Amino acid sequence: MNRFADIVLPLAQPAYCFALPEGVVLQEGDAVAVQFGPRNIYTGIVWRLHDEPPKAKRIKPVGARLYDTPLLDKAQMRLWEWMADYYMCTIGEVMRMALPSMAKPKGKSEEEFSAEIFKPRTEPFVALTEEWRDMERLQQECERIGRRAPRRKEILLRLATAAPEEKNDWGEIPRRLIECDSTILAALRKAGYITITERERQIMPSSVQQFILPTLTPAQQQVADEISATHNAGKAVHLLRGITGSGKTEIYMSQIARTLASGGDVLMLVPEIALTAQLIERMERVFGSCVTAYHSKLTNRRRTETYLRLAKSGGGELIIGARSALFLPMHHLQLIIIDEEHDQSYKQSDTAPRYQGRDCAIMLASMYGAFTLLGSATPSLESYANAQSGKYGYSTLLERYGGAREPRIILSDTMRSVKRGERKSHFNLALINAIGDALAAGEQVMLFQNRRGFSPFVACQQCGWTMRCPNCNVTLTWHRTTERMECHYCGHTAPVAHNCPHCKTAELKPMGFGTEKIEEAIAKLFPDARVARLDRDTSTSESAYNRIIGEFESGQTDILVGTQMITKGFDFGRVAVVGILNADNLLFSPDFRSSERAFQLMTQVAGRAGRREREGVVVIQTSEVDNPVIGWVLRGDYEAMARSELAERYAFGYPPYSRLIRLALRDEDMQILRQCAVRLTDGLRRRFGGRVVGPVTPPIDRIRGQYIVHILLKIENGRSMARARELLRQELDEVSREPQYKHVSVAIDVDIQ
Ligand code: ADP
Ligand code: ZN
Ligand code: ZN
Repeated sequence: MNRFADIVLPLAQPAYCFALPEGVVLQEGDAVAVQFGPRNIYTGIVWRLHDEPPKAKRIKPVGARLYDTPLLDKAQMRLWEWMADYYMCTIGEVMRMALPSMAKPKGKSEEEFSAEIFKPRTEPFVALTEEWRDMERLQQECERIGRRAPRRKEILLRLATAAPEEKNDWGEIPRRLIECDSTILAALRKAGYITITERERQIMPSSVQQFILPTLTPAQQQVADEISATHNAGKAVHLLRGITGSGKTEIYMSQIARTLASGGDVLMLVPEIALTAQLIERMERVFGSCVTAYHSKLTNRRRTETYLRLAKSGGGELIIGARSALFLPMHHLQLIIIDEEHDQSYKQSDTAPRYQGRDCAIMLASMYGAFTLLGSATPSLESYANAQSGKYGYSTLLERYGGAREPRIILSDTMRSVKRGERKSHFNLALINAIGDALAAGEQVMLFQNRRGFSPFVACQQCGWTMRCPNCNVTLTWHRTTERMECHYCGHTAPVAHNCPHCKTAELKPMGFGTEKIEEAIAKLFPDARVARLDRDTSTSESAYNRIIGEFESGQTDILVGTQMITKGFDFGRVAVVGILNADNLLFSPDFRSSERAFQLMTQVAGRAGRREREGVVVIQTSEVDNPVIGWVLRGDYEAMARSELAERYAFGYPPYSRLIRLALRDEDMQILRQCAVRLTDGLRRRFGGRVVGPVTPPIDRIRGQYIVHILLKIENGRSMARARELLRQELDEVSREPQYKHVSVAIDVDIQ
């Protein structure tokens, strides 16, 4: 009998030891109520059971166990531990993020806590009583009562002949599957024929699965064979580089079907904005009720229900979700698919744990001995390098399905257009002509601009004054629809200024352009076209989002203007033209990944054009016609991009040849912050030498009233990350003990994106 339990609380704290009262039996992974602090009651996870008396004098006892099944299995616990160590946070912070909030009640009193405990929805279940389960006897009885009460007879026979998959563990079937009046059921119960029991709602596993899969093309079949070969060679990960429209999804389906048929669970991760109704429907058409969707738009209750249901599932589940789905319990996990594996949204950057979902998923798979399939048209250089070195299996799928043609990419030189007087508002003649042709032929157009709002700043034409956020060091974006100036970092809004407060002239002018302005300008150029816009401002709700997509899909809209949101997850058959309005601002970001990113984004956007029979046209407007990235996009030459970028990363010691840890220091007091940054940098230099870069002032050095300074640590491959983290922790501990710096917050971001 263990006497103590180390318990993880949803806080940035280590695990605490609690006493196990006599006779209380718990398992590791169980959720329990514990008292922490003078009054607070939290949900904790039993992490370790042991008999080592702790040093503390008074140890509180653990409270009640919360669910009839552990919330975590051993593999999940190992993942949380790995994450806390690798991303330098506490397991409690992992817990806070990983469990849906209703699954972890808390309160300031017993009452408050109990009120928060999740109460599963129940429903009535019906079964024949013990004495009427004998078929012969029941039939005789039915003969007897049949003439007088035909409905009763019908219902008794219905229950007697219920299919096994309709029944729950007690042999009962849900009331909702029986079509009849409650009065009849009540009468049958009264007469002792049946029982009606209120039980937790169950999602019935569907009957024998007969998945109807698309037949793979020879090229797709070859990829499937290569995946099997990777598997057979004992490698854990396979990377598939397949262009848009090549049928990556069909390959996923073939892998999923095999896994489900053998009773395994499958996790399919997609970027949040690619998690559309379209994708779920497509998967449900093949995999029916095996499919569970999990994402941030679900209600808290639904997420909690899903979590608790899966904790008891016997396998055969297909979970499709955004990055947080990797924390769901999947005890029979055999396969993880990560679509668009290069996508930045797999990384959580804003709060701890600042984890990379793709990397965590691969780690999770290894804990279960499961296989991971990564897919993308433009793989991350990290994954590509692993494929090149032979660590991952690798396949390519470089033709579109069904002979669909790849889009023709046209480069349009903005400078030249201006000089020749061929530019109207934000559109070069080449793009205007392409749009005109498409509209005349009844086809559709997508226009991509990387910024939302009307214009990213308004500036005085006299003195250069710009309207800025009082809390952040950025300009406010003018939003025409709401007639407000808005900060895209803290959400601060202000009325639109018309006069310059500095020189008092009235010459404020909107500069640059966002999606709103494009929407307005294109409608002026093509007054008969029906124009819609898809960005964060127009898709505030799921229904608004679905409406915009639906109208474009059904041809009620001719031109769709949007941000990245238009680049993923849809399969529109009628898009003849895709316009990238300003490639320049994709090419220049102060980031070692900017070329890779620009290539990925432009290639993804271009992939939207001409998906079925038609050849599409992509027009890229840029003044950087000689930029190598533009050349690679034009030629669709991923490999050239990868070779060149990898060579550069190698030369400068950037990932994938090193790992980057970034420390973001924040404080309201710039002076203190600077001092602290210098102090920390000096300390780190003593331990890490030239691996320390900084202190660096980031492009936006003040957000929400806090000044920000970055320090970067570059740990080259082959050096121990564990050792680096240890040294870093020591130094951070030292600095945090110096009283003048105790308010400076330090956010650690391992493997920055
Ligand atoms: P990707 O995910 O690589 O962009 P999709 O899987 O969406 O490509 O495939 C593009 C289109 O081709 C889809 O409409 C899909 O249904 C169709 N398709 C691809 N492969 C097959 C196949 N083997 N059989 C039938 N349809 C296919
Ligand atoms: Zn002015
Ligand atoms: Zn702001």
